[in-house]
Amino acid sequence: MESRDKSNNNRQIQRANCYSVAERRHDSSPSVIVIGAGFAGLAAARALYDASFQVVVLESRDRIGGRVHTDYSFGFPVDLGASWLHGVCDENPLASVIGRLGLPLYRTSGDNSVLYDHDLESYALFDMDGNQVPQELVSEIGVTFEEILKETDKLRQEFTEDMSIQRAVSMVFERRPDFRMDGIRHKVLQWYLCRMEGWFAADADTISLKSWDQEVLLPGGHGLMVRGYRPVINTLAKGLDIRLGHRVKKVVRRYNGVKVTVEDGRTFVADAAIITVPLGVLKSNQISFEPRLPEWKETAIKDLGIGIENKIVLHFGDVFWPNVEFLGIVADNTYKCSYFLNLHKATGHPVLVYMPAGQLARDIEKMTDEDAAMLAFGELKRILPNASEPVQYLVSHWGTDINSLGSYSYDLVGKSHDLFERLRVPVDNLFFAGEATSLNYTGSVHGAYSTGLMAAEDCRMRVLERYGELDLFHPVMGEDTPVSVPLLISRM
Ligand SMILES: Cc1cc2nc3c(=O)[nH]c(=O)nc-3n(C[C@H](O)[C@H](O)[C@H](O)COP(=O)(O)OP(=O)(O)OC[C@H]3O[C@@H](n4cnc5c(N)ncnc54)[C@H](O)[C@@H]3O)c2cc1C
Repeated sequence: MESRDKSNNNRQIQRANCYSVAERRHDSSPSVIVIGAGFAGLAAARALYDASFQVVVLESRDRIGGRVHTDYSFGFPVDLGASWLHGVCDENPLASVIGRLGLPLYRTSGDNSVLYDHDLESYALFDMDGNQVPQELVSEIGVTFEEILKETDKLRQEFTEDMSIQRAVSMVFERRPDFRMDGIRHKVLQWYLCRMEGWFAADADTISLKSWDQEVLLPGGHGLMVRGYRPVINTLAKGLDIRLGHRVKKVVRRYNGVKVTVEDGRTFVADAAIITVPLGVLKSNQISFEPRLPEWKETAIKDLGIGIENKIVLHFGDVFWPNVEFLGIVADNTYKCSYFLNLHKATGHPVLVYMPAGQLARDIEKMTDEDAAMLAFGELKRILPNASEPVQYLVSHWGTDINSLGSYSYDLVGKSHDLFERLRVPVDNLFFAGEATSLNYTGSVHGAYSTGLMAAEDCRMRVLERYGELDLFHPVMGEDTPVSVPLLISRM
């Protein structure tokens, strides 16, 4: 599919335009270019490859996986992007591949809500002076927080206009003085709000009240991928023609074909393209579309929110912290609150992961990696003054990395949740996939994966309808006979 002779490009694309049904029957199989080798792109590419399409995957980075990035520089796997499977159950579209690979999961919460990916009893929270918050108080405020959110639901019914979750919480306090808290109770409540901001990778004053709970959570709780997500990515990518270091700059769509140009000027032509680059990349207009994308698609790109969450991974010589899953610092406001995931619980390695989100993550991304690691360590020293210095660290930059420009998408105040669907809807022979095109599972790995399969199926139907060869190819979804392999879930 690669057009090596640049002077020949026009002819190549015209040739695609001129395909007739008759010619096509005797021609090679349909072709597709998949842009992006994250979960969505690889799922789509794998499915179409298995359905006898010619598939080329163009990936800008020098690695596959996108926002799933397992690093091995500590001598063991650490995920700098996604690390949980949200919804450890057979309905999860990734369950069969994870199960077949025999990959263990560590359940951090059995809760099926978007708020608690860790059980309340697995936290150890401290104030800024290092005093531990009594566990009963942590649980009690956790329950109150849920009640407050239920009250915000009444506001949603009452007001036709949307508002931010932060505004809604303030209004609940105005109406229900019995919920007002001060001192340590207020700080613990801020910590819960901070965790909620972490889930959306955004600050509470930008998260839509109308849509914050539109996401569907699969049952089975939240399972941490103990050996990292890389084996799953490698399995999907096996045997595919993936061109690393191919940054797409232009996509030309014609009636019967697409021409895709990468940074160094090389072009690729195919019957269709599946675009899976992150929302942040689409927003930045790094990729030009000819003709322009329709207005409804451009509006969806503009009006969907993209949040930031990062990981600062600290590797220590030994374990000196309490044997809990989450260590947190409560404070007057969410910006000052923080938390560390204790990977030692799940993996046995002496590692803590500091996870800033929203404005805090944005601010930390401006620092050098060393300063960011020292900031995280400074937070740890607040609660554990005798903490020994980390021996190694890793810092992610999802907000400024030109290949992501954000961590995952969310609903902005006043914007419709349908925008996710609009981002997904194909434009002729351009198909769109990726976490931000998932109506129900936005911002997740399984969401990205299922949109990849959906785009592949849409693409297969369209291309084959056009050439009248539907019967020749297998459907791309549901073709894997679901082998029932139980997921290996544990909690130490
Ligand atoms: C810190 C963090 C923690 C997360 N935690 C979880 C979690 O625990 N569980 C969970 O389910 N989800 C989590 N997520 C979300 C999850 O990682 C994403 O939803 C999912 O990986 C997105 O997959 P995707 O295929 O849509 O996009 P991506 O994985 O971003 O794939 C897009 C690909 O396009 C490539 N690309 C970009 N620009 C171009 C270009 N111009 N030309 C060619 N290629 C290009 C990129 O390099 C990338 O490989 C987390 C994300 C982050 C950042």
